[in-house]
Amino acid sequence: MGRIIAVANQKGGVGKTTTSINLSAALAEENKKILVIDADPQGNTTSGFGLDKNEIDRTIYHLMIGESSVDECIRHNIVEDLPGIDIIPSNINLSAAEIELIDIEKKEYILKNEIDKVKDRYDFIIIDCPPSLSMLTVNAMTTADKVLVPIQCEYYALEGLSQLVHTVNLVKERLNPRLEMEGVVFTMFDARTNLSLQVVENVKDHIDENVFKTIIPRNIRLAEAPSYGLPINLYEPKSAGAEAYKLLAEEVIANES
Ligand code: ADP
Ligand code: MG
Repeated sequence: MGRIIAVANQKGGVGKTTTSINLSAALAEENKKILVIDADPQGNTTSGFGLDKNEIDRTIYHLMIGESSVDECIRHNIVEDLPGIDIIPSNINLSAAEIELIDIEKKEYILKNEIDKVKDRYDFIIIDCPPSLSMLTVNAMTTADKVLVPIQCEYYALEGLSQLVHTVNLVKERLNPRLEMEGVVFTMFDARTNLSLQVVENVKDHIDENVFKTIIPRNIRLAEAPSYGLPINLYEPKSAGAEAYKLLAEEVIANES
């Protein structure tokens, strides 16, 4: 059974894409079969896995507007040295979907209805959401079993979190009763500053959501890896970033058992 996790936070730059890529790769290293869905028109997950997002003819856009079947959009085994990762890619075309679907009934269910056809082939399906609470994020949450929220260790970390939790609750009530919070994962933690520690303590005091024990450090290798089109566990397997995402994957697997 495919366990489906939406990686969401309407703030940009908090580590959604970095987490989607590297959690997926770390799960694949544990011999899990993974489908990554790039639901962001920026297509950074697509390019981060080494695909040329401008050279792809079938993307999640074609799936959303009903032009292609889900099987036509999936690219198989996209990482040469790490089998088991499939992707539904994205590029800037996706930004038009919201307007094109404006009059379509039940558009919140488009992604779910397609993913239902393939989910049993995968151990985990990871959906990288755009930095908004748009129709695409609602589609992702309607498809998902769980929402994983990366939070950057910075001063405004809590900003927007209550709105995000509210959205999760609305989707649960109206569209997807299965939906649950998987939890919050802190990203870009800088051990040299007090601020990071204060943010972690402060956020923990203010939220009821689960918090992953694993904290993702600020690690330059994580920022470099996408320009080589590689996940961190292939780019720099001994880095602190690779180690952290391995531990996060172990926690995600443990949450399922
Ligand atoms: P989002 O998808 O939420 O917009 P990204 O994953 O794209 O966020 O991260 C924003 C930027 O921060 C990117 O340039 C990325 O390479 C960098 N980044 C993300 N996580 C880390 C980290 N743990 N350490 C260093 N840089 C990071
Ligand atoms: Mg992103």
